[in-house]
Amino acid sequence: MNRKDFLKVLGLTSLSISMNSLKDLTHYAEELPVAEKTPLLFLGHGSPMNAIEENQFVEGFRNTAKTFSKPKAIICISAHWLTRGTKVTAMPNPRTIHDFGGFPKELFEVQYPAKGSPELAQQTKETLLPTEVELDDKWGLDHGAWSVLKHLYPEADVPVIQMSIDYYKPASYHFELAQKLQSLREKGILIVGSGNIIHNLSLVDFRNINTDNYGYDWAIEARELTNKYLLDGDFNALVEYQKLPKAVQLAVPTPDHYLPLIYILGLKTSKETLSLFNDKLVAGSLSMTSVKIS
Ligand code: ZN
Repeated sequence: MNRKDFLKVLGLTSLSISMNSLKDLTHYAEELPVAEKTPLLFLGHGSPMNAIEENQFVEGFRNTAKTFSKPKAIICISAHWLTRGTKVTAMPNPRTIHDFGGFPKELFEVQYPAKGSPELAQQTKETLLPTEVELDDKWGLDHGAWSVLKHLYPEADVPVIQMSIDYYKPASYHFELAQKLQSLREKGILIVGSGNIIHNLSLVDFRNINTDNYGYDWAIEARELTNKYLLDGDFNALVEYQKLPKAVQLAVPTPDHYLPLIYILGLKTSKETLSLFNDKLVAGSLSMTSVKIS
């Protein structure tokens, strides 16, 4: 139920609501049952080849999308859009960006023609005030977004906007900024973070790229540790990841692929539960571990 329907059920119109009852309603909205909110997803996207391959991970994405109703629109926070300040894509028809090199032609031919949503971009900008958000007309959908959304919604029939990561800010900033997006979850907007919790490209073992669940010892340790904090709800430890043991420092040598997770954690309410899927290591130094919160 959206806010408008909710008010209708209560027999209230915007004209008849006094400031006090508005305050009460706002309070009540925070107490809405979990079922009224869209879930939160963090998707480990891994290699861009996952966009066109059939494997256990894309099956995991597909199956997860089947566990909840189709959202009205998506805000995707991708590891591949790092900016100074925060931007949201505001074009009606975002282009499919092939932001990688050295992959087969077939991958460069993929198009994900989901519509954008200038309205949602504007709404997101207003929701994040007083943080200044720039409406962007140049970006589009990078592979962090389309390589996974393609499996969630193959028909590309859900509008998507991307929100960039201000790369000059610490994890705690992103954790707090995310919380301002909470109200959008009651309006049918699905918020998706796309990155990888363990992502050290310089150490990838290409000989073991197809070995199931293959990780270096430090990657195994980092996964155990981060999964424990995720499942225990100790998000503070994850926000302060730079204080965690060396294994985690090797897993997160740069924060680009880690910060999309922080957005999703910032939005979890106390009534919601967190579950993991696609929880496997790949090529020694990557993890596909994905998170659903609902
Ligand atoms: Zn990536």
